[in-house]
Amino acid sequence: MGELAPYAVNATNSRGRSVAEDAPQGRNEFQRDRDRIIHSNAFRRLEYKTQVFVNHEGDLFRTRLTHSLEVAQIARSIARRLHLNEDLAEAISLAHDLGHTPFGHAGQDALNTCMNPYGGFEHNLQSLRVVDVLEERYAEFDGLNLCFETREGILKHCSAENARQLGELGERFLKNLRPSLEAQVANLADEIAYNNHDVDDGLRSGLITLDQLAEVPLVAAHLLKVKNAYPGLPERRVVHETVRRMINTLVTDLICQSEHNIHTNKIASLEDVRQAPALITYSPSTGEQQRELKAFLRNWLYRHFRVLRMSAKSQRILSDLFSVFMADNRLLPPQYQRQLESDRARAVSDYIAGMTDRYAIREYRRIFAVEEAPLQV
Ligand code: MG
Repeated sequence: MGELAPYAVNATNSRGRSVAEDAPQGRNEFQRDRDRIIHSNAFRRLEYKTQVFVNHEGDLFRTRLTHSLEVAQIARSIARRLHLNEDLAEAISLAHDLGHTPFGHAGQDALNTCMNPYGGFEHNLQSLRVVDVLEERYAEFDGLNLCFETREGILKHCSAENARQLGELGERFLKNLRPSLEAQVANLADEIAYNNHDVDDGLRSGLITLDQLAEVPLVAAHLLKVKNAYPGLPERRVVHETVRRMINTLVTDLICQSEHNIHTNKIASLEDVRQAPALITYSPSTGEQQRELKAFLRNWLYRHFRVLRMSAKSQRILSDLFSVFMADNRLLPPQYQRQLESDRARAVSDYIAGMTDRYAIREYRRIFAVEEAPLQV
């Protein structure tokens, strides 16, 4: 890692961990956080959780694991160029989706509806809950006992009500302060990664076509250049060549505009970063192109009838599982059983949120499927 900018987060003056620990040997505090995240159970489960497509639909579609790796790669590239703390940006990126339910956003919406009377469910808050409470690996503490800065980066948004319960970590939402630049970078890297890989996966699935995408300005510019430069290039290569140029454009634009923002706001310290408006941004024109791409994906991919059918099925699976566990606590694995109704709801929610796509499907079958018994002669 090169020299850090004065407004970058420095591992040597971290605000520390909830439970004090000896300084790490041979690695810094954020490298230790990253290592803990990679070794967690929740991280391994990301391999079998999906974003848009359900895990068993095909081997080439992104999962939350490959998505998180792409986010980390993009975030590190941006952090390096801006002389920010790459290790912190990487740790936040790898942890940002740990709290996701099975079945992507459909799963999160279903679980949130079920949890409405009990404080709701929010995947972002759940990611924090995974690293603060749910991972059971260490003798001395629950969770992973990560540094304040890593936890702050994981918590992208938060209601005032939840913020008040989070103490120091919730303060910035109540005082309207910004998180570190590394957290802001990881947040935008997430958006760059999913918009571009959803284009790629959407085309691979056949739910959207290149002709449709040619109407989207951000895609059109690169697509035309690729087609002109390489006539007769097979479509898969046209897609990759176009998507990689789109990612490059977005990353480069983000770096240039953010450098400009840092300069014009005269940012000289981490404290300045917290007081300033969001500094990691696209230029206005690229921001607009990015929004158009998002709108296209929302209208043509996320609301495609085949995606909606899968979402409806996923929502039914999760809400049926929730109802059955709430009605009879004894059906839960013993470690999730709770006597009080309020505790019970959160335990059921933790159990369901931790499931992978295929585990949720199997659990649903185990509980609801009635197999026809062989005929007795
Ligand atoms: Mg994400």
